[in-house]
Amino acid sequence: MTNQPTLPTTRAFIAGPKRMLINGEWHDSATGETIEVLNPADGSVLCRVPNANETDIDRAVQAARRAFDDSAWSRMKPTDRERLLLRAADAIEASAREFAEIEALDNGKSAAVAEALDVTMAAQCFRYMAGWATKIEGSTVDAAIPYSPSNAYFGYTRKEAVGVVGAIIPWNFPLLMAAWKLAPALAAGCTVVLKPAEDTPLSALRLGELLQETGFPAGVVNIVTGYGRTAGAALAKHPGLDKIAFTGSTPTGKAIGHAALDNMTRMSLELGGKSPVIVLPDVDIDKAAEGVANAIFFNSGQVCTAGSRVYVHDKVFDRVMERVASIADSMKLGPGLDPSTQIGPLVSARQLDRVLGYIDAGQTEGARTIAGGGRGEGAGFFVKPTVLVDTDHSMRVVREEIFGPVLVAMRFNDLDTVVKQANDTPYGLGASIWSNDLSAIHKLIPRIKAGTVWVNCHSLLDNAVPFGGFKQSGFGRELGRAALDMYTETKSVLINHA
Ligand code: NAP
Ligand code: MG
Repeated sequence: MTNQPTLPTTRAFIAGPKRMLINGEWHDSATGETIEVLNPADGSVLCRVPNANETDIDRAVQAARRAFDDSAWSRMKPTDRERLLLRAADAIEASAREFAEIEALDNGKSAAVAEALDVTMAAQCFRYMAGWATKIEGSTVDAAIPYSPSNAYFGYTRKEAVGVVGAIIPWNFPLLMAAWKLAPALAAGCTVVLKPAEDTPLSALRLGELLQETGFPAGVVNIVTGYGRTAGAALAKHPGLDKIAFTGSTPTGKAIGHAALDNMTRMSLELGGKSPVIVLPDVDIDKAAEGVANAIFFNSGQVCTAGSRVYVHDKVFDRVMERVASIADSMKLGPGLDPSTQIGPLVSARQLDRVLGYIDAGQTEGARTIAGGGRGEGAGFFVKPTVLVDTDHSMRVVREEIFGPVLVAMRFNDLDTVVKQANDTPYGLGASIWSNDLSAIHKLIPRIKAGTVWVNCHSLLDNAVPFGGFKQSGFGRELGRAALDMYTETKSVLINHA
């Protein structure tokens, strides 16, 4: 079992000093305090990062404000912003293995998967958003003002960068979430203060180094490390922000939303989920079971769209769930740096306790465990991939977001019932349907209340396809053209040319 990075550059980065990026310079926190960064595969301390407080946040927001107002950034040609974003994409790709090793050490995830998915998607997000920098357009309006005798009015709209953006991101896809916030904001011409999660600050700091080398002017990208309840809260309520972009849990999203509203700060919130997976009776059992297992166990279940509730048609329930349980039992737990690892540790001791608590609660409420059901071996924060059956909608394991490798499974007999069950949740982030029955699929899609419905796949993302939640899963859409709307304001212009 290997838990060591192979690249000298990764080792040098982990061993080196960690400072925050403010106004193009690297700073310790105002108090000099630091936070331990742990390796979740064995609980050891990897390094320390600055513990920012309100003063540090204020400095970063002021730097971002100056950079936004300064002509070096605001008057930069869109083609030059595009070029910077393209260079950033190339730089991320050139460091793909290093980023993957950093994510494996800091978050616990498989380095191989991180390289193929997190890092590739992050680079591609910069490249995709680079293209939008030159395609931000308003519209022209032949204005006909009803109470004016003149017909000589011309109207048009401009899309202008919203301004200074505060971005707060979670620990499950640290680099990718940083890219999802930074790339569209920068493409639109905004400046950013990014606060990564306290559990996984490292890839954001490394990205900050690359972006500085890429040539973004000082203060355009600021990266501040600290606790959510202090640094995050100070950022969310800072009156100098024009917009806050958040990904994380629904309760924290609500707190941030309330703080933002006090200043009328624009907001986009990408929040939790309890996404249903619906398996119709016509499926190929093995393929469907593999899809169901991937939907929940990918990234150790720490995915906002994780397929954490499965509804299988009664005709195939036993066969599909037996197969899902045997896939779960066969998965190899281990550190993310071991190429044979199929499921890494959870991110922290806190998440370990939380997920084990849910498994206990499910068992106490009467659920039957057909795979896993407890902690994995070793000092790391491992949880065995777990499958619970005999579950129903009165149970906490069915109603609440667990954010770990825990699947609850239920039966259904007809489409009306499964629609009701799928929608019986405060969340509405994702859902998937597994079937080749076109008629049933098209009946289900409009009735499922979720921001994304996947068919015969789950949690797949494309930079061109908008992503976000219905109901308590959030506010606004990321990715695609929709992301640009999140970082621009519409200005209307009316000209009297009589
Ligand atoms: P969280 O509280 O939502 O944390 C997400 C981000 O918000 C982190 O950067 C966090 O900083 C920051 N934050 C926390 N409290 C804040 C506050 N009062 N004001 C401003 N920022 C704040 O999530 P968590 O506590 O790490 O995880 C708890 C649960 O959230 C998980 O078990 C899971 O159910 C859910 N979750 C969902 C997603 C998702 O993508 N939907 C992602 C992560 C977690 P710190 O890390 O320093 O606290
Ligand atoms: Mg960590």
